[in-house]
Amino acid sequence: MIFEQLSLGNMQNFCYLFADETGREGFIIDPAFDHNKILATIKKHKVNLTRIILTHHHFDHINAASQVKAQTGAEIICHRDTAPLLHGATTPDRLIDEGYSFTLGDRKVICLHTPGHAPGSICLLVADKWLVTGDTLFINDCGRADLPGSDPKQLFASLQRLKSLPDHLIVCTGHNYGPLPTRTLGEEKRLNPALNAKSFEEFCSLP
Ligand SMILES: [Zn+2]
Ligand SMILES: [Zn+2]
Repeated sequence: MIFEQLSLGNMQNFCYLFADETGREGFIIDPAFDHNKILATIKKHKVNLTRIILTHHHFDHINAASQVKAQTGAEIICHRDTAPLLHGATTPDRLIDEGYSFTLGDRKVICLHTPGHAPGSICLLVADKWLVTGDTLFINDCGRADLPGSDPKQLFASLQRLKSLPDHLIVCTGHNYGPLPTRTLGEEKRLNPALNAKSFEEFCSLP
């Protein structure tokens, strides 16, 4: 599997490219700020881009989606609850729900609906190796739950759900906010206070 983590813009956003080494089909997650760099990375790997997946509606995760679509013809995909919040910033071609999946070569990509930071927040399980978390989970932290459309109870429930996934997954976050660009989910379970909170009350009392 081809994997690229691009740090873009002045908010330390991460954009991801995944592609099948044999068939060269690939997809991108959260294209923002620098479509030229994203397109150059796609070209470097000779990837046939078929999907542009948005983890949620915030502008710092979507603002290069239309340009990447115009240059590649890939379809823009987001959760059903993200669509009404885009307000024309970009136009999705396909609305998805919990459990949406597709294959790249012989590897599977599965979408998990993990609301809380935003109503349509999703995480993506890629090839049983990577867990792309958007702004739901960061290294040592989690996404904000005090924004319009956020719901702290849902975020806590979504984090509990992520905690039930296998330790070997490599957590790929939406921003480069941590001490490392990626870390395993096992390490997050051990070290991340947001995952260690035993109750919703404890979760709410975190600094
Ligand atoms: Zn966000
Ligand atoms: Zn963000």
